[in-house]
Parts: sequence; C-alpha cells; structure tokens
Amino acid sequence: MRDIIIPILYMVSAVLFIRGIKLLGKADTARKGNGMSAVGMLIAVVTVLFEKEVMDAGVMSYLMIAAAIIVGSIIGAVWSKKVEMTGMPQLVALFNGFGGLSSLLVALTQYLNSQEEAKPFEGVTLGLTVAIGAIAFTGSVVAWGKLSGKMFKKSVTIPAKNALNAALAIAGLVGIVLYAFSGTNKELGLIGMIAVTAAYLILGFTMVVTIGGGDMPVIISLLNAFSGLAAAFAGLAISNSVLVVSGCLVGTSGLILTLIMCKAMNRTLYALLFSSFGASASKKGAGSDKEPKSMSVEDAYLILEAASSVVFIPGYGMAVAQAQHSVKELADKLEENGAEVSFAIHPVAGRMPGHMNVLLAEANVPYEQLKTADEMNPQMSNTDVAIVIGANDVVNPSALEDETSPLYGMPIINAFEARTVFVLKRGKGTGFSGIENPLFTNDNTVMIYGDAKQTVSSLVSEFEDS
Ligand code: NDP
Repeated sequence: MRDIIIPILYMVSAVLFIRGIKLLGKADTARKGNGMSAVGMLIAVVTVLFEKEVMDAGVMSYLMIAAAIIVGSIIGAVWSKKVEMTGMPQLVALFNGFGGLSSLLVALTQYLNSQEEAKPFEGVTLGLTVAIGAIAFTGSVVAWGKLSGKMFKKSVTIPAKNALNAALAIAGLVGIVLYAFSGTNKELGLIGMIAVTAAYLILGFTMVVTIGGGDMPVIISLLNAFSGLAAAFAGLAISNSVLVVSGCLVGTSGLILTLIMCKAMNRTLYALLFSSFGASASKKGAGSDKEPKSMSVEDAYLILEAASSVVFIPGYGMAVAQAQHSVKELADKLEENGAEVSFAIHPVAGRMPGHMNVLLAEANVPYEQLKTADEMNPQMSNTDVAIVIGANDVVNPSALEDETSPLYGMPIINAFEARTVFVLKRGKGTGFSGIENPLFTNDNTVMIYGDAKQTVSSLVSEFEDS
C-alpha cells in the first residue's frame, strides 16, 4: 500500500511545485503560487516521514527530524522577520549555500552509509552531487560575504585564475571517476571522494571571489541554479523522485534567470566566469572632473508642476530610503496635475532581480505603469522630467559611450535623453560598481541632494501647499 501512496503523494507535490512556479510568473498570482508551492513542500516533507528507511530507523530518527525542523523553523522565522529588504540578496545567497551544503551532506552520508561496492552510475551521480553541492556552498558563502560587506570588500585577483580553476575542476572529475570505478577498493573510493569534495569546495571559492561589481546578481542566480542541480542529483543518489523534480525546477529556473540577466547586462556567461570584472578595470568615468549642479526642492517643484510627462527611475537608494510610498504619493500628485507618469525599471536595479517591482507593488503602484528599458528608452527624449531616485549604475551613460568602462555594453535606462533629469541621492557617492557617473555633470541634469524619502516627501508637500 505504502509503495503506491508514497509515489502518488510525491506526484501531487511535484504538480503543485510546477503549477506554483507558473503562477509566480505574474505579480497578481505570485502570492497564490508561493502558497501552492509551500503546500507541495509540506506534502513532500510529510510523505518522507512515511518512507520505509525513516520508519525503520525508529523513534530516534523522528526525534532528530523534529529537532531539525524546530531549530530550522525558528532560525528561518526570526531571520526573515529581521531582514531588511536591502539585505535580501545576501540572504538569498546564503540560502543557496545552505541548499548546496544539504545536498553535499546528503551525498556524503549516502557514501558513508553504503556498505556495497561502488557502481559506476551511482558513483558518478553521487560524485556530481558532491561536486555541485560543494561549489554552490563555498561560492554562495563568498557571494554572501561580498554582498553583505563582511568579507572580501576589496576586489581580489588570483594569478592564473583560469588555469587554477581548470586544474581544480579536472582534479575533482578525476576524483569522481576514481570513486565511481573503485569497485571493492575502499581506499581508492575514499581518495576519490576526498579529492572531489576538496577540489570543488576550493573551486567555489576561487570562482566567485574574483567576481565583482555588476556581475554579482548574475552569479547569485547561477549559484541558485547550481544548488537546484545539486538537489536533483542528490534525489537521484537517494532515489527520491520529488527531490529530482524540485531540484530540476530550481536548476532550470535559475539557469533561465541567469541567461535573462546576462542579456540585460550584455554579459556572456563565459565572460562572467572567466574574466575578472571590476578587479582590473579602471573605475574612473568620463566627466568626473566637472562639478554637478544642484537644485532646491522648491525650484524642482516649479519644474515638475509644469511637466506634462514624468518618468521615475528607481534604484537601490529608493530601497535604502524606503521611499516607495512617498514616490507613489508624488506620482499621484503629478497625475492629478495632468502629467503622464511612468516608472522605468532596469532588470538589475537594486540588489536583487525584481527588487524595484516588489517595492513599488508594495506601495500599490499599478503594474501597467512599470515599464522595461526597451519600452521606455524610445520615449525618453519626449519626456519632460526623468526623476532618478537612488539609481546610479543603471543610468550610467558610460555603459553606452565609454569602451574602457567596466559597465560598457550593459543596457541602461537612457535618463540622459530626457529634457530635464533630477537625480535624488545623498551625496557624490558612486553606485554598486564604484564607477563615476557622467550623467551627473550633464547640462540637463540637476542633483537634489538628501535622503530620497525626505526629498520626495518635501516635493509632495510642495504640491499640497500650492
Ligand atoms: P547603485 O548601487 O548603482 O546606486 C545606488 C545609489 O543610491 C548610490 O549612488 C547612492 O548614492 C544612492 N543612495 C543610497 N542610499 C540613498 C538614500 N537613502 N537616499 C537617496 N539615495 C541613496 O544602484 P542601481 O540600482 O542604479 O544599480 C544596481 C547595482 O547593483 C548594479 O550595479 C547591479 O549590477 C548591482 N546589483 C544588482 C543586483 C540585482 O539583482 N538587482 C544584485 C547585486 C548587485 P549616495 O550614497 O550618494 O546617496
């Protein structure tokens, strides 16, 4: 009976995962999709508790599972309550790392528990689980350290990085082959297992530590794909179909997102992995010796009051200032005043994919007002005012004009083409990539210095008082 019910329950949870992912594709159904996937996960977890191996292991195994669930849930709940929206990318990086570590531990446990001789197919599957899990683990921890500013703040270069990485990758593959074909020779199997674990733990580190600047979001997405792939191989290694399905879903969606982001930043996966962005390139930009002009909120109001089209371009600073609700109020005031209002959203604005969409949706900005760079850029030259709110890299014209800039080739929102550009930021600081922005010294650009939320609220007050 159990042999029939368990696969059916796994199938139900797999269907819920797939349907859930589909619903996540649209903002208005995303919450439902998330809930549906969570129910799928609950069914999968409960079903595992009735697996023969778990039941045979007795009460102790249930106590250990219960302890793990309680400790994990408490840490997860406290952490997600505490985390700021701006800290989400590093949290996602860490989650990817834990996903990779879990697969690595599952595979190593399977290896240690196995009394039989190694068989080639199972051996290769187990070896790949270890390899991908290890790379996802150390790579994600480094990504977390870089994004949170807790480790590797300065860019790191490794001499002959590509040769070193190739040597590590080959050493690990040799380890997998040694293990998979070790047969009854346990010592050879152990050497193989140690080689693949060590080589790929180091490879995760050396691969990610040299990557910097604007490439980090893509790397996080790639590591997410790795953690999914590791889970899928772990599912094969322990013959668990739902783990294979969920791992494949995470792996493929992560890979699709990686490719979309590569396209958005005009980077190839090859360049991402094999060149050191931001490590060797010059960080200076054109126009850095000119002084930007600044304007008071009162004067900016007069320009906005006369504007018939306004485009908001939000960036990371809007998230830091939590200015989204004030921005929505300002957009409403502008519309009441007869202006046409849109929001131009760059795919890597902020610190995680969809960061701006989430914040603006939270402030009830209608989804139809959110436009992509491709939709907005052709209209930018007919726009009266572009209001750049805490965005920097995603409006940096060096990406279009300066072949020596590390940002060169990345599509941007062409704010510089608007008749007037307001840049709301606190000072003259650079953005995430650390590259100067010549937009700030353009003739049609004025800076409105200060915290974005305070500046936008003051502009709203100007409209209210008029
Ligand atoms: P940037 O990080 O380039 O710039 C943000 C700007 O916001 C800074 O120049 C800062 O200037 C300003 N700022 C900070 N706090 C405030 C505040 N309270 N009020 C007003 N302004 C503020 O942001 P972008 O969104 O333009 O670009 C995103 C960058 O992050 C890209 O390089 C992208 O590659 C990278 N990235 C993106 C991820 C993603 O998935 N979206 C993930 C990881 C990295 P000042 O200090 O002077 O105020």
